[in-house]
Order: sequence, then structure tokens, then C-alpha cells
Amino acid sequence: MQHFIVVGGGMIGLTAALGLRQQGHRVTLLEQGAAPTYTDTLELRVSAIAHSSRRLLQQLGVWQTLPSHRLGPYQAMEVWDHDSFGRIAFHASEANATDLGAIVENRVLEQHLWQRAAAAGVELHENASVSAQQVTAERVWVEANGQRFDGDYLLAADGGRSPLRQAAGLPLTFWDYQQRGCVAVIECSEPHGGCARQVFLPSGPVAWLPLADPHQVSLVWSADTAVAAELEALDDSAFAKQLQRVSDQCLGQLKVVSKRASFPLRMQYTQRWLQHRLLVLGDAAHTIHPLAGQGANLGFGDVSDLLKVTAEDFTQRELREWERTRKLAAVEMISAMEAFKRGFGTAHPLAKLVRGIGLKFANSFGPLKRQLIKSALG
Ligand SMILES: Cc1cc2nc3c(=O)[nH]c(=O)nc-3n(C[C@H](O)[C@H](O)[C@H](O)COP(=O)(O)OP(=O)(O)OC[C@H]3O[C@@H](n4cnc5c(N)ncnc54)[C@H](O)[C@@H]3O)c2cc1C
Repeated sequence: MQHFIVVGGGMIGLTAALGLRQQGHRVTLLEQGAAPTYTDTLELRVSAIAHSSRRLLQQLGVWQTLPSHRLGPYQAMEVWDHDSFGRIAFHASEANATDLGAIVENRVLEQHLWQRAAAAGVELHENASVSAQQVTAERVWVEANGQRFDGDYLLAADGGRSPLRQAAGLPLTFWDYQQRGCVAVIECSEPHGGCARQVFLPSGPVAWLPLADPHQVSLVWSADTAVAAELEALDDSAFAKQLQRVSDQCLGQLKVVSKRASFPLRMQYTQRWLQHRLLVLGDAAHTIHPLAGQGANLGFGDVSDLLKVTAEDFTQRELREWERTRKLAAVEMISAMEAFKRGFGTAHPLAKLVRGIGLKFANSFGPLKRQLIKSALG
């Protein structure tokens, strides 16, 4: 059994720590912030959890502990182009499934992961910011708040900025989407009916993700930086008017019922995910556009594949294979996001016609639609 030091108590670090501990490894997790907690107020950051991620969380015994009144399972998905006749709609029944996934607030999931990890015997350290690290072919150590932690492997799950990745000098490919993702909780006069909706505007996609309350959705409005700045400057009622305008009335009257926040959107891809005994995963290894809601799912995939390696005695070669497989999964996702963004991010009349025809064709052609549903399920 090995001693893993995991840096980062987000969804991915906590899931990795719990999985490794359940395999019998010794695990120490260091998180620079406080242990995650949540209140009755809905959180702004949510994730659409795909079937594959949910399976992993079920195997780890966490999914079952999540409060059902904070989960938004969705049975349908509708995507359309604001500027053309293109529209595609899926229903879980077309894939013989009861749902296509579930919306969960990041903090809610993190809190339950933290509790489960503590119960499983992960050595959890909150308010522990890693400020130094050393990784050799034999050992690793990190320093946090003047205390040194020694181990066999170091996992960097410390998010998109990843101080560990930077300190290790791992090369990064990145580009700025030149968009911001504006998020808020929205109340709608029409029930969402368990449907995740997304409209593509030339300035970026707008998604309404169904929450447990049939009249509340989580908004992710990705918009070019200048448009986002204008939206951010609006008060809630003017913002809701703009939202109403782009919604094609799909949810009736809309009202902002939370604070609003926004995040810069950037593609990042770390070129090396394994350096001696340092492994990089989750947002530390890749960040993608939120348009398909796949960023965290990609991170859960990193964990799931890693746990297959660490279940038995393993070699550096097997870790190298893990790195290869996961890099491929990330590159495929990044390319798909790019194709979507380029295809929809233009108001050129010919592009509009092509995407209108493309969406209509995909909606009516059974095999292609089933393939799309399979990808959406994860
Ligand atoms: C607007 C938006 C919408 C999204 N929607 C979806 C979606 O629908 N579905 C989906 O799958 N994904 C979605 N994502 C992506 C998803 O939110 C991320 O992929 C996911 O949160 C990454 O989790 P993580 O654990 O890798 O990183 P993080 O959540 O960033 O966690 C990193 C942790 O490391 C800690 N840390 C950092 N440095 C140190 C240090 N030096 N020492 C100790 N601790 C440290 C931080 O405090 C933090 O807790 C979305 C993203 C955005 C921006």
C-alpha cells in the first residue's frame, strides 16, 4: 500500500482521496480553504453529473448520501440555435434510461465527499496551503503552514491555477475563449419539466439547468467578454429582461433569485500529467468551455481510470498508460468544444443555414441522435 498526498479539496481531489483510501492506501489531503459547508441557500456553482461520474460516486458510497431536495435529475435536453430553425431534443427514454444525468451544487457534493472521506480515514487538513514541494523518483514531500508531509505519490488536484503544476514547471497549452460564464439561480413561471435547455447565440451559449424545485433553474450564460461586461453592469431586473429576450419564452417569465457571479472561460491543457511521482488531474490538468457541462465529468474520468491502476500493485508504466488514456479523453473533449464554439459562434448566413440543417438532420436521424444521446450520458 502507498501513501498518497492529495492537494486540493475540490470535487476531484476529494473523490480521488476517498477512492484511494477505500482501496486501503494511506491518504493525506490538504486543502487551502475551510472544509466545505452549505446552507439552505442554493449555491451558484453547479455541475451536470453524467452517468459515468454518478456510477463512480455511487461505488464510493457518496451519491446515496446526497439530499434529494438538492439534486436535479433531468430526463430531457433541448438545444437550439437562436438564429436559425435548428433544434434538437432528446429524452432519456430514447436511450432506455430514466434520466440523462443530474444537476448538483458543487458545494453540496464537496461537503458529502469530505464527510465520507473523513469517515473512511483520509487524513484531512483544512486551511493548509501548500507552499513548497519536492518530487523525486523515490519520494515526495510538501510543506503547508510550516508542516512537512512525506509520501510516496503526490496528486495535484489544485484547480485551474494549480500552484503545484506551476512549481513543477509542467508545460501548459492554453487559449482564452474571450468569454465569461455568468451564473445565477433563476425562478421561472413555467415548470422546467426536468429538461436541460441551451440556446446558442452568436455571442455564446445560454444554459438553463433544472434544479430540484420545478420552478428554479441554474443559469450559465457564456458570453463574449464585452457582452458579459454589459450584462454584469445591469441590475437584476434588467438582466432578467435580457435573459427573457434570448430565452424564446421557453420557461415563461424569468426572475433572478440569487446573487450573480461570473468566471473567465479559458481552455487549458497540461502537456505532462505525470512527472516522476507527481500526477496532475481534474481542472489542474484541463479546463474546458462549460457549454457541454463536461469539465468535472472529465475530472471524474481521471479519477475512475486512476483507481483502476491503483487497485493492485502498480508500476510507473501503468501510470504512464493512465496519463496517455486521460490525455486522449481530454483532447477529444477540447476538440469537440472547439468545433461547437466555432460552428455556433458566428452569425454568417451560410454557417447559420448549415447548422440549422445539421441540427434538424441530427434530430430526425435515429442512429446519429442515439450516438449524441450516448455522448450526453457519458
Ligand atoms: C460556469 C461554469 C459552469 C460549469 N458547469 C459544469 C457542468 O455542468 N458539468 C461539469 O462537469 N463541469 C462544469 N464546470 C467545470 C467544473 O466546475 C470543474 O471542472 C470542477 O469544479 C473542477 O474541480 P477540481 O476539483 O478539479 O478543481 P477545484 O474545484 O478548482 O478545486 C481545487 C481545490 O484546490 C485548492 N487549492 C488550490 N491551491 C492550493 C494549495 N496551494 N494548497 C492547498 N489547496 C489548494 C482550492 O482551494 C480548491 O478547493 C463548469 C465550470 C464553470 C466555470
